[in-house]
Amino acid sequence: MKIIRSIKKMHECSSVFRNRRVSVGFVPTMGFIHEGHLRLIRQAQKECNKVVVSIFVNPIQFGKSEDYSRYPRNERRDIALLKKEKVDVLFMPTARAMYPPDFSCYVRSMNFTDILCGASRPRHFDGVMTVVCKLFSIVQPDRAFFGQKDYQQYFVLQRMVVDLNIPTKLVLCPIVRDKNGLALSSRNEYLSEEGRIRARSLSASLFFARKVIKEGEKKPAVVTSLIKRIIEEHVDAIDYIAILNAKTLGPVKCIKGKVVIAIAAYIGKTRLIDNVIINRY
Ligand code: AMP
Repeated sequence: MKIIRSIKKMHECSSVFRNRRVSVGFVPTMGFIHEGHLRLIRQAQKECNKVVVSIFVNPIQFGKSEDYSRYPRNERRDIALLKKEKVDVLFMPTARAMYPPDFSCYVRSMNFTDILCGASRPRHFDGVMTVVCKLFSIVQPDRAFFGQKDYQQYFVLQRMVVDLNIPTKLVLCPIVRDKNGLALSSRNEYLSEEGRIRARSLSASLFFARKVIKEGEKKPAVVTSLIKRIIEEHVDAIDYIAILNAKTLGPVKCIKGKVVIAIAAYIGKTRLIDNVIINRY
């Protein structure tokens, strides 16, 4: 595995790949690699000749009171895991190189970023879109792989590649969960054993909602209140419970077609998100 820390060197490596006409799959991450990331990498290896993974804890997507400085990091462990996975290139730029003091251009969406996670994390998606746009310019991937766990992120990035004519195809990969249903996340590291048990209520409530919908429930308000009842006794605060059209992120009056049920809640200071997508015709 080639480890590249300089933007210039990564750019040169991308040019070599392009000139040789090998297809490049890209998996952007913030590190603290877990099985969720590894599944994206394996999918990229199936679909592309070369796989580039980036590790970059992106400062501009964190709010002032959020966890940028304490976000879990373990470079040695990450490198070992990615080597074992036979990743071709690991790109690890520095924050200073990505955002020099005179940095001033951002990518911003006029829609879809003031709801769900965007409502409680203002400017978060500007930061995500800006870094992914920059990484795409540096890596020039044919395909980039994202997890459904961050469905809104995938949705706004999909708009970005369409609206800005970026020739990278985005691939959405399923949520990887532990044996108890908890969606894997680097932030699970913050949870105590008891916190992890309480956190199971998020996926449990989503699976219950899916069952209730399969059995015929069509009213979003009924389903959201069922979810609320399940999680409220386990979590410290609920940020949102939403049922939206998965293709538009618009509200739904009736659960029909492709819908996403998304939740965000706090266990202590740790903010966790999860979702399920349901097709109901
Ligand atoms: P992160 O390092 O948390 O920024 O995540 C990097 C990528 O991995 C994003 O596309 C996430 O959606 C994806 N990802 C994170 N957790 C999971 C998971 N449990 N299952 C599938 N994909 C995930």
